[in-house]
Order: sequence, then C-alpha cells, then structure tokens
Amino acid sequence: MATEYELRGQLATCTRIFAMQGMIGVFGHVSVYQPELKRVFITPGMGSDKGSLRAEEMVPCDLSGKPLEGEQGPPLEWPIHTAIHAARPDALAVAHLHTPYATLFTIAKRKFQPVTLQGAISSDGVPLYPEAQLITNPARGEALLKVIADKRAVLLRGHGIVVAGKNLQEVLYTSLVLEDDAKKSWQAATLGEVGTISEEECRAFGAEIALERRAQRAWNYFAGLEARWDHQPATGRSELFP
Ligand SMILES: [Zn+2]
Repeated sequence: MATEYELRGQLATCTRIFAMQGMIGVFGHVSVYQPELKRVFITPGMGSDKGSLRAEEMVPCDLSGKPLEGEQGPPLEWPIHTAIHAARPDALAVAHLHTPYATLFTIAKRKFQPVTLQGAISSDGVPLYPEAQLITNPARGEALLKVIADKRAVLLRGHGIVVAGKNLQEVLYTSLVLEDDAKKSWQAATLGEVGTISEEECRAFGAEIALERRAQRAWNYFAGLEARWDHQPATGRSELFP
C-alpha cells in the first residue's frame, strides 16, 4: 500500500505536469484513492495554482466529499471522483480536465476514435456524458459512472474529460495520449478525411499489454522535465510525440 506521503507527492507531481502541458489551469482536478481507508486525496478547487502545487496542499476527504482535516473542502465536482473510486477497484486515480483538444470532441458532433497507435488504449472508443451540466451531486456522479462503465475515459458534453486509471502514472499517460489523439484528429481533418485505427488494429498493437511500462516511462520523462521547469505557463510545454 502506498503511503499518504507518497500519494500526496505523486498527486502534486502529476498535477504540475498537467499544468506544464497546458492541460489543467483555473479549472480541473486530480485525485488518488486509498481503498483500505476509503480516503480520497484531491487537488484544491477552482483558481488554485496547479503549476506550483505541493503535496501538503492536497485535500483529504471521504467518499461523501466530507473533508477529513482542515477547513478546506474538495472542489465542487468532487462526486466525479468519489463515484468512480467507490465503484471501480481498477480506478485508484481519476483526473477531470478541460483540455483544449479533447474538449473539442465534447462540442463537435463527431465520435472520438483513436488515430495513432498509442491511441489504441482507447480502442473501444470514449463515451459521451450527454448532459451539459457540472457533476456537483452524487446522483450526477452515479449517472457519469453508468456512462464511463469500465472504460478509461469519458467526454462531458460542452465541458471536458474524465480519465480513470489504476494509478496516477496511468492516468497521466492516458490523458496525454487522449489529448494528443484529439489534437492530431483536428489537425488531420484540415488536410482531408481522417483515418482511424480500427479495433482489430488496436488489439494487434497490444497497447494494453505494454501500458504499465509506457505509463511509467512517460511519467519518468515528464517528471524530469517538470523538475527543471520554471513554473511559468506554457514555457515548459513539451509534446508527447514530437
Ligand atoms: Zn469541470
């Protein structure tokens, strides 16, 4: 079992990398779950500076969103995190982001499908939560859970994305790949019809088998870049597949 100290540190690192990549800012939050203690650690809410977040700033809460220490509560959309953590033993980390490119697929009437081999981790597509509303109560959290089901990610209409994974490394990598595939889909569409990677091709690529190794290597790479980032918006930004 990872210690509270380790989880808080990883959550801070993951969130700073998202900030460096321009994938989190005024909005968005990331969480990690300790199932043995039914305890969620989540980043502070709207307006907090995600690019300089430290381990001690994380908000611990229970599965009903009640803060477990201090005055500060979790972000408004905490039910996104608690609904998924409570229901899925394979989702010990969850990110809710309003990333620039994947969010386009919550607006355009166009189904998201992988367009690169790395995108094969979303071989079965990314479902859309159809309500244009914030997930601010447990009933909406449950409705979101039904849409994401056992998948890695879900699009929230006119809003953003939610990515779940077995740890923060997996959530970081899955989010980077989803954002990159969304960006490439949009860029390729300006050139002509967009070719997608079929479910069969995705399976043949075996993205699932190598996910843990790829996620850890991407984490090490981006954590290294983050460590020497000057913590100013946009200046540390680096593409996943340059
Ligand atoms: Zn949101």
